[in-house]
Order: sequence, then C-alpha cells, then structure tokens
Amino acid sequence: MNEPTLLAALLSALAMTGIVTLRYILASGGFAWATARRQPGLYAPLRQQIRKEIGWSLLSCIIFGLPAGIVAWGWHSLGWTRIYTDIDAYPLWYWPLSVLAYLALHDTWFYWSHRWMHRPRVFRIFHAVHHASRPPTAWAAMAFHPTEALTQAFVIPLAVFCVPIHTTALAFVLSIMTVMGVVNHMGWEIFPDWMVRKGLGNWLITASHHQRHHDIYLCNYGLYFRFWDRICSTDKGLGNFV
Ligand SMILES: [Zn+2]
Ligand SMILES: [Zn+2]
Repeated sequence: MNEPTLLAALLSALAMTGIVTLRYILASGGFAWATARRQPGLYAPLRQQIRKEIGWSLLSCIIFGLPAGIVAWGWHSLGWTRIYTDIDAYPLWYWPLSVLAYLALHDTWFYWSHRWMHRPRVFRIFHAVHHASRPPTAWAAMAFHPTEALTQAFVIPLAVFCVPIHTTALAFVLSIMTVMGVVNHMGWEIFPDWMVRKGLGNWLITASHHQRHHDIYLCNYGLYFRFWDRICSTDKGLGNFV
C-alpha cells in the first residue's frame, strides 16, 4: 500500500470515528433530553454513573469507527463489499429482505456472544462494564469495555462483504441499531402497551425486555428479536419500570 492510499484509509477511519461519535452524542443526548421531559429527575441520582457511561461509550465510538471507516474507504476506492447503489441491481422485494437479514444476523451474533459473555470468568473482563449501569440510562447505549466493543464492532463491516445491501437499506439498519440501542437502555418504555405486550411485542425487543436483563442478568440476551431467547428458554418476559 503506497503512502497516499494509506493516508486516505486512515482519514476515512478517523472521519468515521467522528461520525459514530456524533451519532452517539446526538442519539443518546436526544433521548436523555426526552427523558428529562417525560420522567423528570429519573437520571438525577445517576450523574456519576452517566459520566462513566459516556467515557466508555466514547472509547467504543473509536473501536466501532475505525473498522467501519476502513471498509467504507475500501468500498469507495477499491470496490470492496457487496454494498450497491443502483436500486435496480436487485428486485425491490430484496430491499426489506436485506434489512431483515442484517437484523437477524446481528441479533444471532449478539445473542450467542452475549450469552458467552455471561460466563463468570468472561463476564468480569468483557461485560461487567456494561452491567455497571444499574439502572442503565440513554447514555449507556455504547457503554462497553473495549473487549466487548471489539466483539460487536466487526459484525456489520464483515456482513457487508457477504450479504448484498443497498446503501439506503444499510442506512436504515444502522438507524434501527442506533435508536434501539439507546431506547432499550433509557429506563422507561417509549412504545405503547398494546405494541409491547401483545402480538408483535411477543417477538420484538424493547426497553421492557432489556430492562429485565439488566435486573436479573441470566435471561433476555437478545438484541432485536425474542426468537433465540424463546427457543432457548432464556426469555423471562418483560420487566417493569418504577
Ligand atoms: Zn448482559
Ligand atoms: Zn444493556
């Protein structure tokens, strides 16, 4: 790799780190602001914890940003990945299917790696940082120890080499990832009861489901869907907010 190429790859990695950091600040900051309006005082006793959540999350932004930036540079400059821009390259029905495939893939990786991280010895190194948020806040969305961040940072950058996806579908997946990461830790349920506790809610994960994971640990490991938790009998239902 010659020098200008290396520099371009490095700049892309830095730019992506900046984008991921900005995305975290805007998403977590936005929902923290909404929390202050909807549940005044909820985060008041958690100031010290929030400072730590922000510190760990900013470190995670670097770990997530660097590989994503290198892959974005490779896509743009060298034609890497199976990301496509021509909407006609695949039939239209493929767009929602690709979104679902990415969410299912990410969810599967998350479920099994998350379960593994709850083994006592692994937990102490990889995952204790995330569970130090008791209860979590909107700022905890990316509060991971670097070892845990590494297990998650390569999922999408590797998936784009295997499963074709349109740029807008990828943007949609990343938006769902960001928003759900924040709202699932926010400390209150944003979705109405009829959505969360019936029908589709039996299969989708929202704050009420992940809250129970932060409460009693060895259950509710999933990210987007309750599918793996249900078939592996680790689904312990929904938690309540006080
Ligand atoms: Zn956990
Ligand atoms: Zn969590």
